[in-house]
Amino acid sequence: MTQHISSKRFTIKGIVQGVGFRPHVYRLAVGLGLKGWVLNSSSGVFIEVEGLTSRVDEFIRTLLEQPPPLAVIRSCQEEELPIQNFADFVILESVKQETREVMISPDIAICGDCRREVLDPGDRRYRYPFINCTNCGPRFTIIKDVPYDRAKTTMAEFPMCPECEAEYRNPLDRRFHAQPNACPVCGPGVCLTDKDGKANHASVIDVLKSGAIVAVKGLGAFHLAVDASNRNAVRQLRQRKLRDAKPFAVMARDLTAARKYCLISEPEEAWLASRQAPIVVMKSLNNPVIPGDLLHPGLNTLGVMLPYTALHYLLFDEELDLLVMTSANVSDEPIITDNYQALKKLYSLADYFFIHNRQIFNPCDDSVLSCTALKTTNIIRRARGFVPQGIKLPRMNGHKSVLAVGGEMKNTFCLTRGDEAFLSQHWGDLNHYHNYINFLAGIDRFQKMLAVEPNIIAHDMHPDYQSTRWAKEQGLLPRVAVQHHHAHMAAAMAENGLQGKAIGLICDGTGWGTDGNIWGGEVLTGDYRSFDRVAHLNYLPLPGGDLTAKKPYRMAFIYLYELLGERAIRYAQRWLPDMSREEADIIINRLDRGESLLTSSCGRLFDAVSAILGVCQINRYEGQAAMELEAMARHGAAGSYPVRVHSGPQGLIMDANPLWLSIIHELEKGITPEIIAARFHRGLAALFTETIRLVRERSGIDQVVMSGGVFYNQILSELMMESLNRMNMKVYVHRQVPAGDGGIALGQAVIASEVTD
Ligand code: ZN
Ligand code: ZN
Ligand code: FE
Repeated sequence: MTQHISSKRFTIKGIVQGVGFRPHVYRLAVGLGLKGWVLNSSSGVFIEVEGLTSRVDEFIRTLLEQPPPLAVIRSCQEEELPIQNFADFVILESVKQETREVMISPDIAICGDCRREVLDPGDRRYRYPFINCTNCGPRFTIIKDVPYDRAKTTMAEFPMCPECEAEYRNPLDRRFHAQPNACPVCGPGVCLTDKDGKANHASVIDVLKSGAIVAVKGLGAFHLAVDASNRNAVRQLRQRKLRDAKPFAVMARDLTAARKYCLISEPEEAWLASRQAPIVVMKSLNNPVIPGDLLHPGLNTLGVMLPYTALHYLLFDEELDLLVMTSANVSDEPIITDNYQALKKLYSLADYFFIHNRQIFNPCDDSVLSCTALKTTNIIRRARGFVPQGIKLPRMNGHKSVLAVGGEMKNTFCLTRGDEAFLSQHWGDLNHYHNYINFLAGIDRFQKMLAVEPNIIAHDMHPDYQSTRWAKEQGLLPRVAVQHHHAHMAAAMAENGLQGKAIGLICDGTGWGTDGNIWGGEVLTGDYRSFDRVAHLNYLPLPGGDLTAKKPYRMAFIYLYELLGERAIRYAQRWLPDMSREEADIIINRLDRGESLLTSSCGRLFDAVSAILGVCQINRYEGQAAMELEAMARHGAAGSYPVRVHSGPQGLIMDANPLWLSIIHELEKGITPEIIAARFHRGLAALFTETIRLVRERSGIDQVVMSGGVFYNQILSELMMESLNRMNMKVYVHRQVPAGDGGIALGQAVIASEVTD
């Protein structure tokens, strides 16, 4: 019987660089007795294999079914070749090519193998903070250019020692072509300094235990660390950071330590231990060992992450369970990545600096997410561990290269290439000069990294967003202005791969409406091309726009005055203690003149209810009043409020006034804020549900997406999912990008691509 020999070439694309792809191929090919070669290039991995036909078939089947753990194969092309009589199987050197279609991997949390080595006193990398291998370690934060090779990373200045070099060259080693490979002999090192930058020989753990604040240079930025169980230290940190209310994230020594402070569900545990290693916001157990009132004032949740590099192991011992690990920036400025900047800017914040000499090239915050009772994940901040992984775009009218510049406050931009969208890390509020500069640099870097020149620019309709202004300066490129809530809706549709028309329930703080008013409690119908505004929360005047967002009591007063006229003053004196009579008079004056912009904002409605219930009168961080209202709502409190939907000039009006009258009535009866808060959530969900029922009846559309920052509210989003499921609607929520403004760039990109020819 003759045995067939064949020779084939495979071209594989996807995340195939820096993930141990070639050694994996090498081992597989050699194991099957095949000859040939494998080659990495900037447009993918090329493989030629020759041998028994059955073995060649088995080779490619196995490779596609069981790629290396971090690889993502997007396509595999196969070509028959004439027999070439290769002598053996080899790994060829990288070549640079014109097209760059590879993807850069995000940073990956330390793997099990590296963890074992770093904790093993016999290992040459025992307690070495920069240990990594092809399955873990820094990627995005150290990459300057593609293809991904050490020379193009911030590891370039650390030539490998012979031992590391040998690992790097050995196809059978776990560190074969691990670009950041390093050891204590050749790699970067850490050092503890005092606040003047002078080396200090104390141990960082002892310093932390003494209650000091330590600025720690990690993977994507600096953190400020303190012992979370030390009340005075945490209070010091709050005072020095001028951060009097915003919750602090913590890092737990390990899962066992985390369990002492949080109720951890199965999906939450999976995220904590995942290769993305995000901050997971979970139910706090209010363990008295830590000062919950200082860590998460007014909230019953705690954001926890686990150590994601070996450097973090150096911060813990058995006596330390939890460290506060908050971004080391000054108020709304960018995260700090540079030693010199850190010493300068954090001088008055930190007592010690735990720094290293590897440059952070791409700044990247910790990602933040939470899990819902309905087994969905809310990505609140999509950064380290996720960026720059591509998001598959839905089938559309051709894919163009779009640069979508996002919103204003939690800005991210989005660049598309082929059928994938690449969402940037968070840049923060673009009104801050340095955030804006980082945003611009980020755009350049993404274009270089992805080798894409956009041919369309998409931006928000808001004329005063910094991102809009920048977009308008970009000369000849065609521009598309996208309505804010349409962008939210399209983002949710796109990441769920929806086709055709959908109903969008979009609830957020503010977005520029096509009528020049401030929208934010909207029901839209439409697709990637266009939308109709079919319902919105009733309009209210908004005198002093931004000021009202900072001072929820003002919004509560506006509701009272609109509903009750002069009687509002008496109610305000009782329930809105932070508002002076003068301020009330100024607001009344402006309301009576009737010149204010109008708003249908759902965020402001939450603010107003929070203020009238005495939960939160002033927002000391964005979303505080709404978050504390959610935390206040008593689980299982029965009852709801009447709702009213009627027709208005722009579709249906979702009237929140009956909710308000019920709340005032119940306050007067002495019902507790815990119960009223719960009933308000139910009432609002009932109002939205009734509206969507009417919209479905009229439009025949039965798929609905929910988006907007208000949907970080788990009570509301769970109530909505339940009621819409009961109505047999197909309900879609965000899974990969934030529901808040950090996700709108994706929607802008999809819409712009669809509406231009
Ligand atoms: Zn590893
Ligand atoms: Zn070395
Ligand atoms: Fe928004």
